[in-house]
Amino acid sequence: MRKKIVAGNWKMNTSVVEGEALAAAVAAGMPEVPSDVEIIIAPPFTHLVSVAKAVSGTRVAVAAQNCADEPKGAFTGEVSAPMIAGAGCKYVILGHSERRQYYGETSEKLVKKMRLALAEGLSPIFCVGEKFEERNAGNHFSVVGAQIAEVLFELEPEEASKVVVAYEPVWAIGTGITATAAQAQEIHAFIRGTLAGRFGSDFADGISILYGGSCKPSNAAELFACPDIDGGLIGGASLKADDFLAIAKSF
Ligand code: PEP
Repeated sequence: MRKKIVAGNWKMNTSVVEGEALAAAVAAGMPEVPSDVEIIIAPPFTHLVSVAKAVSGTRVAVAAQNCADEPKGAFTGEVSAPMIAGAGCKYVILGHSERRQYYGETSEKLVKKMRLALAEGLSPIFCVGEKFEERNAGNHFSVVGAQIAEVLFELEPEEASKVVVAYEPVWAIGTGITATAAQAQEIHAFIRGTLAGRFGSDFADGISILYGGSCKPSNAAELFACPDIDGGLIGGASLKADDFLAIAKSF
């Protein structure tokens, strides 16, 4: 059985003190979240150690929002996969559309990052998704298929089995526009089928595929009820503990 997951991407928001309080509030709500739902929070790098301590001993896992494509050395401003693992993270978000768009994240770099993260025992949350004009042109399947092939197909099956995929249509991120459940289910099924074509259907059945893009308490239940949607990657709504917990209870 694949895991149900709700992950919060805090992006570049909250001070350290605010982040610790948000993490503690999420942890305090865990008794009401179904026990088979994995909860992940992804604070900024500066918060990782103290947030990991704040949720230590609870069911809340911590993710970084990125990692370097080199393990160590003269790369000023970068944070490596070993550092992230040492800070107490279990996961790392890789390939978020904001990183692809603003920081030149290419598939080539992502393969390096994935391998470094996996070597540290981190599970990558690998983001894919098409832009507005790509969907309008009917190219969303080919865009997402290429993003998957260029990165995940480069991994050994054993490595790829540790990955969580997040489908995040760029036109839905932070816009308030959510993909309909039918649109999301259609492309999640396509992603699972693409993975089955390369790694086999047992492998594909075990991979969690999350939806991200203006997911909120009012639409999470409909999305999570779809057979190929295993949870959500949540941006804006993860900054309010009540909203994030309400989403986590939507299965
Ligand atoms: C995201 O950036 O991963 C995201 C899903 O953002 P939002 O929920 O704010 O659209």
